[in-house]
Amino acid sequence: MTQPFIDDAAEIIDGTSSMLVTCEHASHRVPEPLTFSADDEAILQTHWGWDIGAAELVRAVCSLTSSSAVLARFSRLVCDANREVDDPTWILGDIEGHRLSFNRRVSPDERARRLASYHVPYHSTVDVALSLLGPDAFLLAVHTFTPTYRGEARDMDVGVLFDSYPEEAERLRAALAGEGLACVLNQPYSGLDGLMYSATRHGRGHGVRYLELEVRQDLLADTGAVSLMASQLTQALERSGLLL
Ligand SMILES: [Zn+2]
Repeated sequence: MTQPFIDDAAEIIDGTSSMLVTCEHASHRVPEPLTFSADDEAILQTHWGWDIGAAELVRAVCSLTSSSAVLARFSRLVCDANREVDDPTWILGDIEGHRLSFNRRVSPDERARRLASYHVPYHSTVDVALSLLGPDAFLLAVHTFTPTYRGEARDMDVGVLFDSYPEEAERLRAALAGEGLACVLNQPYSGLDGLMYSATRHGRGHGVRYLELEVRQDLLADTGAVSLMASQLTQALERSGLLL
């Protein structure tokens, strides 16, 4: 694997397998010229600011499978790489009553700047990476979810999200269950509700198989846990025939 290429919007990991892993919520970084307060920072560190553990899992899986990856280098609170630009949640002003200082009065010019500086280059990078892999590529978007959301515990370990490719989704789900993980389809969010923007956009755009993975964050709490999940996921991808 060569050295990762990094720019302001994305980090690229080069690999040799047919799989491209994407990580839209890899980072809680708020790039300059934006600034943030100490209160903002507390929010940025939580699941609101990024998908805790997702980037580490992507790096570990890419290392085990010699796969490529594109990881976003900006917080979803700067603008959400996994949402349509016209989605009202693309830039969130408020998190649980806290008003983010860098999202107060976001002007049309500032929205355009974030689009051009982060959203567009991130997705262009995914496009280029998929073009290089060709029609046999498998695209996997990796996300993580918080164990409790609005007071409700989520017991499942891993979700496989799909809107197309139900057979591939079931094969991966069964293989992950075979690794001892409580794995369900289209939970805690459903791909059928349009909640896997990036995977759907690029999978359909390139005519390649695509799925999204959601992993519970407490299963990625330290390096050992990340290594275990990465090896379980690698086994499952190989057994389900998705990794060539
Ligand atoms: Zn996410």
